[in-house]
Amino acid sequence: MTSMVTDEQARQLAKSFNGRIALNEPMKKYTSFQIGGPADMLVQPRDLQSLSVVLRWAWNEGLPLFVLGNGTNLLVADEGIRGVVVRIGPGLDSVSFDGERVRAMAGVSMPALARACAERGLAGLEWAVGIPGSLGGAMAMNAGAYSHTVGDFTREVTTMLLDGSISVKSCEEMQFAQRSSRLSHGDLIACEAVLVLEPGDPESIRCQMSEYMEDRRIKQPLHLPSAGCVFQNPSGRGAGRYIDGAGLKGLRVGGAEISRVHANFIVNVGDATARDVLILMNVARRTVYEKFGVELVPEIRVVGG
Ligand SMILES: Cc1cc2nc3c(=O)[nH]c(=O)nc-3n(C[C@H](O)[C@H](O)[C@H](O)COP(=O)(O)OP(=O)(O)OC[C@H]3O[C@@H](n4cnc5c(N)ncnc54)[C@H](O)[C@@H]3O)c2cc1C
Repeated sequence: MTSMVTDEQARQLAKSFNGRIALNEPMKKYTSFQIGGPADMLVQPRDLQSLSVVLRWAWNEGLPLFVLGNGTNLLVADEGIRGVVVRIGPGLDSVSFDGERVRAMAGVSMPALARACAERGLAGLEWAVGIPGSLGGAMAMNAGAYSHTVGDFTREVTTMLLDGSISVKSCEEMQFAQRSSRLSHGDLIACEAVLVLEPGDPESIRCQMSEYMEDRRIKQPLHLPSAGCVFQNPSGRGAGRYIDGAGLKGLRVGGAEISRVHANFIVNVGDATARDVLILMNVARRTVYEKFGVELVPEIRVVGG
């Protein structure tokens, strides 16, 4: 696969960019599935100024751009990703408090954010402690659990357009919906958000978090690499129940397996490829449709190729 980014282009960007630049970087290092071929270029800006520099640079160079958070909801193709992958993570992860308002940068992880809020005696994000993504990824996916979603707590989001300009979006403009939002189209990057929580007792908040984590440890295969639930839950019944009902638990292709613990998880049991996972996803979709007449819709994002 020919790279779209040359060494000379990387040297030019490095002159005005504060952060890490890597060429031909294996994406399996950045995904919870531990799957994915190389990104032509992966950059990790350390501040918003550098984020805008790299966006404008990629725009001017005509390079495609993909925004990466913690890579916990992604299946990256074995061929990797052409163009530039911008990782919003360390350096773009500060959190500050003003009463019940929390201002957090998109690179903070959801468990870290939930714990910081608990320490301040702010309740509302307990459900987020077991979601390993970044706040930016959670906003793009409208991540949620236990009947809450991140959109329920969001007041406004500071976003950057692909030309590097800033735009502040209200909660309504963010169009939060089932596992999607205005960020889902890939033309807008979440930089920072204001969430509004409620006062609570830190000890009870921590207790609730422990209960949620214990529930996950029992019900989910947390000991193996995965990207969480593969399919959205159809109304009325969990996708895992359909897949289990179709007799597919434990089905293996290459290094990927439909989890024996939770049938809506595909786990990487050893050197799985994206192709292995895609085959299992297709088998699950086809078999569930044939048996129950239900169309399973992927929740994980498949990128690259
Ligand atoms: C063990 C496990 C359990 C999980 N449990 C849950 C759960 O209970 N509920 C749930 O909803 N999800 C769950 N997930 C899935 C995942 O953690 C969430 O979807 C999470 O919000 C993804 O965040 P991320 O930073 O990893 O995003 P990534 O996987 O890096 O990216 C996901 C999407 O968000 C976009 N994106 C990322 N950052 C930004 C940004 N700053 N601006 C704009 N777009 C951006 C990407 O382009 C991509 O389209 C689980 C995953 C695992 C591995």
